[in-house]
Amino acid sequence: MASFPVVEENVALARYTTIGTGGPARWFARPETVDELHELLRWASERELPLEVIGLGSNLLVHDAGVEALVEKLSGELATAHVDGETLVMGGGAANAVGLHRARAAGLGGFEFASAIPGTAGGGVRMNAGAYGVEWRDVLIDAVIVDAFGPRTVSVEELGLSYRHSNLAPGQVVAGVRFRLQPSTPEAVKERAASLLAQRKATQPTNKRTFGSVFKNPGGGPGAGRMIESCGLKGHGIGGAIVSPRHANFIENAGSATTADCIAVMAEARRRVREQFGVELEHEVQFLGPLELPPL
Ligand SMILES: Cc1cc2nc3c(=O)[nH]c(=O)nc-3n(C[C@H](O)[C@H](O)[C@H](O)COP(=O)(O)OP(=O)(O)OC[C@H]3O[C@@H](n4cnc5c(N)ncnc54)[C@H](O)[C@@H]3O)c2cc1C
Repeated sequence: MASFPVVEENVALARYTTIGTGGPARWFARPETVDELHELLRWASERELPLEVIGLGSNLLVHDAGVEALVEKLSGELATAHVDGETLVMGGGAANAVGLHRARAAGLGGFEFASAIPGTAGGGVRMNAGAYGVEWRDVLIDAVIVDAFGPRTVSVEELGLSYRHSNLAPGQVVAGVRFRLQPSTPEAVKERAASLLAQRKATQPTNKRTFGSVFKNPGGGPGAGRMIESCGLKGHGIGGAIVSPRHANFIENAGSATTADCIAVMAEARRRVREQFGVELEHEVQFLGPLELPPL
């Protein structure tokens, strides 16, 4: 029988998010294998506990009062990566940087786009993360999804990936991911990743605490950042949260931000963009706990 992970209570989540805000998880566990994850999900289901999963918290806002749920953070073998032929095999909790490191060492290209996305393989599936014209769905073969009924392998088509969207249901956890890569050389991979990172540093606040893109880019017209900037909001702050002076679709934690400050800045940006452009921005950042934006 699989070992059962320790379930801790009232664990602070702010340190597990890149923005560094938010309250505690009522219950928190770090499953290390698919069997442990399955046991944990079954245990939670029997008790009807709500479930949440976090990766590197790089697209997350957690309610300041915390989350009344069992929050899982995949660890151990669920956070490792290796190469098998031309396939990059990653645990759902493995950091993209680790995946890129393994691919580079094996001389495989095609994952460089993910090097500057500071999340995990599983978080990338949930968000269909992407950059520089490449998304998870372009390189994904399949994923192992675990819920209270057990693990199953799901094809990329079944995951229904589109712009920052997947059809994963609540309680479904991505435990493993396989990516199809191509032969390259370690030097070429390194060079490509470095060049993409340099482009990013030139335009985004990479050295600040943020949660990545705040809003999705609406199709067709200008991007969310361009519209927020046109409203004169760059540098606009509420409490400790400010619209990044470098890129207006980022919110920076200027030191003492709360999640409520971030939500207030988001609400103001949405209101002003709706007023000036008639566009209703949809948030890309994911919410943990009873968070919502005020109606427009
Ligand atoms: C500086 C910066 C730059 C960024 N640039 C980009 C970019 O270019 N492109 C882009 O797409 N994103 C970008 N992001 C956002 C973020 O990195 C991605 O969305 C990333 O894929 C989130 O991964 P994560 O593991 O941190 O997920 P988290 O932020 O921890 O969680 C995000 C969502 O995924 C769910 N989730 C996490 N792990 C799992 C799992 N194993 N199974 C099921 N659900 C899971 C969570 O429940 C939540 O709903 C950026 C963020 C930052 C801070």
